[in-house]
Order: sequence, then structure tokens, then C-alpha cells
Amino acid sequence: MSNPPNRTPEPVSDSSKLFWSTRRGFLRRSVGALAFAPLASALPAWAAKAPPVRSRESESHKILVLGAGMAGLTAALSLQRCGHDVTVIEYQDRVGGRLLSVPLKGGQFTEAGGGHFRSNMPYVLSYIRRFGLPLLSLNDGLPRYFYGGKAADAAVLSNWPWDLNPDERNVSIASTLNHYLFLNGLDADTVLSSGWPDPATMNRLDSLTVGDLIKRVGGSTAFMKLLDAHGGTFTGASAALGAIPDLAYHFGDQNLFRIRGGNDLLPQAMAKVLGKRIVLGAPVVAIDQGGDRVKVTVKDGREFSGDAIISTIPFTVLQDVTVTPKWSPKKKAMFEQMEWDATVKVIAQTKTPAWLAQGIHGWPLAGSDRPWERVIDITGNEPGGFGNTFFYLNGANAAAILKRPRETRAQEVVDQFREDLPGLFDEMVTVQDFAWTEQPWIRGSFGGPPVGGAWMIDEWTKPEGRIHFAGDFTTMKSGWVEGAIESGLRAARQIDPSAKPEAEAGLRQEITA
Ligand SMILES: Cc1cc2nc3c(=O)[nH]c(=O)nc-3n(C[C@H](O)[C@H](O)[C@H](O)COP(=O)(O)OP(=O)(O)OC[C@H]3O[C@@H](n4cnc5c(N)ncnc54)[C@H](O)[C@@H]3O)c2cc1C
Repeated sequence: MSNPPNRTPEPVSDSSKLFWSTRRGFLRRSVGALAFAPLASALPAWAAKAPPVRSRESESHKILVLGAGMAGLTAALSLQRCGHDVTVIEYQDRVGGRLLSVPLKGGQFTEAGGGHFRSNMPYVLSYIRRFGLPLLSLNDGLPRYFYGGKAADAAVLSNWPWDLNPDERNVSIASTLNHYLFLNGLDADTVLSSGWPDPATMNRLDSLTVGDLIKRVGGSTAFMKLLDAHGGTFTGASAALGAIPDLAYHFGDQNLFRIRGGNDLLPQAMAKVLGKRIVLGAPVVAIDQGGDRVKVTVKDGREFSGDAIISTIPFTVLQDVTVTPKWSPKKKAMFEQMEWDATVKVIAQTKTPAWLAQGIHGWPLAGSDRPWERVIDITGNEPGGFGNTFFYLNGANAAAILKRPRETRAQEVVDQFREDLPGLFDEMVTVQDFAWTEQPWIRGSFGGPPVGGAWMIDEWTKPEGRIHFAGDFTTMKSGWVEGAIESGLRAARQIDPSAKPEAEAGLRQEITA
């Protein structure tokens, strides 16, 4: 089952404030949130790291999991397998959270959220295999760039019209970027291990941006801009710590795939195992852990009680949930200071994947400094004959399109692209958009620590009383399903150390927390 995008947003609460800090920009909630100064003495006693809820092998507990995205489903399944009584409470009438597949013409599917996976994501691979889901292969990016009014193809490096350093010429953006990471003492493999970063690396990188990292080892401004055009969500101004795993995913592996029939088939398969343990259409409005048990109240007044909670509610929404006793100052500061991207996808299905004949394709098919930002080609070996793409607009570009009339805004983006890079798209078959800031259950797309926010890395793993936290935004792999699965396992193991994944990851992953 797949659901069409929700096009009628509920109003976001008055306390929302938008701050655009980079070209792509960030959505940050709260005003004047300054760097958090630890206030250890203000912490209630129960905010200290709690022991696992399960103390004896045979003990079964009632666990409430808030949110039925990949993190919540992972946590719920692993605890249910250990014999605990699990209830998953979900805001929407569907499971999957930010995995949301949308049917297109000709039997094709696009992805409003999580769009692709790579072979350096061992948990994702093992879960897809465990549930017997078929894969589609995709192309990595061999894009056409359009920057500063000039166009050039990634496949024809020697013709690039930009003022790159001699060392940056004649090699791909991925090779140069990996070289720059190496010169900074980093590599694409290590930064994806679950124990990264160690405290020394955290200190070393906490005050740096991606631009600082690249410039300090001799990278040119032109290279920085091309990287921005290629990658989109990370920019020169992004906090280095949060962006480095993102860079490693994009530039450390060229094997891309998605699930045939839609990526949300994975959460749906997991939900099937949990069955009636999932309560849909139940936005959590209050959490009370003042008494012997935890109590959760949902919008229609129903109450659920249990021994412990795993919350995967995005912090953008969680900070508006009434909680008793109040959050500790450090948790409150984390919720307020985490930076969230704003993203709009413009879905564009074409009569054929005409770009292939021009020697360009993939993730991304084109990247620019223009309002259309980037186009991603997810056609790969999907049947149907149509070209399957989406534009990926972030920050200021996302904000700009949302100010345009709803009926025409998606078409305007396609038209701008066709004007800048004519000949790549043939006839349009489907044009529509999906805006992440308009979804009341998240109000953004990806969350991560700002520059100076390394303290959050420890903080998001710490339970607050009997509330444990999961969600990709509580890992260094924010914006990736791999992070969501890791976080669900971590939170489940805080409650019961014997909790296991549905399938063991084959490669480098060892959950350490
Ligand atoms: C535009 C976009 C592109 C992406 N691209 C990729 C990609 O290419 N590859 C990749 O691996 N990942 C990608 N991701 C990230 C991926 O989708 C996420 O990492 C993953 O789905 C997050 O799972 P989660 O469970 O942590 O959070 P979510 O999926 O956000 O789940 C949170 C759940 O909590 C629920 N909830 C919220 N508030 C309440 C409440 N008050 N009460 C009860 N429930 C509540 C929500 O409805 C939701 O179901 C992308 C995401 C976006 C938005």
C-alpha cells in the first residue's frame, strides 16, 4: 500500500520560527537559543543514565514506542522478539514516517522521502533481505552542472570552465573530496562506523564547517561550489561533524538501489509482524512519568501506560508535547538547538529518460546554483519506459517555491530547469511536489547538531527517566535509514540488552552504545 502525498497541511504551532543560515538554510525552532552551558546541578536525579529496564531474563515489560517510522518499528520488533509487550503509537494513519512511496504512471514509483540506499548501509541491506523485498538498481551521479551561468558535464572533466586548482582538475568530485577527507585525517569507511566520532575527533571538528575542512587543506572556492551543486544538503556552511557521514555516503560508494514497488514496503513488512500492536492515527500530546508507570495521552484522549517509552518523535514535534516532569535543561536545549533542513521534492516523470542519450544520469543527474538546485534520476532499471526524476530543493530554495501558488509551483521549477539546461527532459508526464515543512508530524526533513553542537552526540543517547530516544536524528547518520535502524536497536538495548536486529548486518557495524 502506498499513500499519496498529504497536500493540506495543518498549521504549524505559533512557536515555530524559521531561520535561514546558509544558502540551503535550516529550520530551527526557538528564538535566541544560545550554545548550551551545562547545568549539571539543575538536572533531576532521574535524568542520570538509567539502568536497563529488564533486570531478569524472564521479566516481560510493557513498552510504549512513539512513532512507527523505521526507528520505532526496529525498536518495537526487537523488543517484541524478546518477549516484551509492545505498543507502537503513531501520529499518522500509515506507518513508515519518512519512507513514503508515491505511485506514478506506468507502474513506476517515486519517493517523497528516503529515496535510495547504498551498499555501505549494512543494516538496510540485511533488513531488506530478511523481508524478501526485491531491489531496483540505480545509477550514481554522472551529472551536468550549471553554475555561475556556465554548464559542464562531470564526464568531460577537462572542459570544466571553473577556476579549480590544478590538483582538482581531471579527477572527479568524489576523488578530490575523498582526498581532502584523507588530508583531514578522515576516511569514508571509518566515519560510518557506529562508534564515530571518538572524543578527540569530536573536539577537533566541533567548531568547523565543511568549508573550513576543505579550505584548510587547499581546496578552492570553485570546488566548494561544485560540491554544493552536487550534494545539495551539505554546504560549505554546514557543521562538519554532522555533514561528514553524509559526504561519506554520497562519495564513498557508487552502488545505489531502492525497493521495487516503493521503499515504504520495508516498514510495511515490519508493521505486518507487529500487527495490532500498532495504533494508527494517534498523535501523542502528553507524556507523564511522574508516577509509578509512564502514561501517554493521545489527541483523542485515549491513555496508554507502560514501564518505559522509546520516543522516535522528531524533536521539532516532541518539544510541543506536554511532559511531566518537565524536560531537563540539557534535553530542552537539544530540542531547541538542533538544526532541521527544510526540503521540497518536485516529482517530474518524463516520457522517456532522454538524458541517457547525452551521457548523463543518476544521483544527481544535474546540479546547480539555480532555484531548481538539483535533479535526481531514480529511473535505473525500473520498468515502465518513463523517466523518473525529482528535484531536491532545500533551505532558501524550498522556502522560495513554497511562496509560489500551490497549483503552479512545481511546474515553475521544471520550466526553470528546462530553460537553463534545454534538451534533457522530453515531454512531461507527471509534475507534482511534496513539501516536508508542511507535514505536521515532522515540520522539516533532517535534523543534526549545529557548529558547536558536539555535546548533543552524547545527550541524545541518554534516557530521561524512563523515556529513551531513537530516530535517525539521534545518530551521526541523520537523514539515512541506516541511522534510524541503528538508533532503534540502541534504544531497545537500553531497555533489554538482549535485544537483537531482525537480521545481523554483514559488514562493519557494531552497535556500541
Ligand atoms: C526528503 C528526504 C530524503 C531522504 N533520502 C534518503 C535516502 O536517499 N536514503 C536514506 O537512507 N534515507 C533518506 N532519508 C531519511 C530517511 O527517510 C529517514 O532516515 C528515516 O525514514 C527516519 O526514520 P525514523 O523512524 O528515524 O523517523 P521518521 O520516519 O520521521 O518517523 C517518526 C515517526 O514519528 C511519528 N510521529 C511524529 N509525531 C508524533 C506524535 N506526536 N505522536 C506519535 N507519533 C508521532 C511520525 O508520524 C513518524 O511516523 C530521506 C528523508 C527525507 C525527508
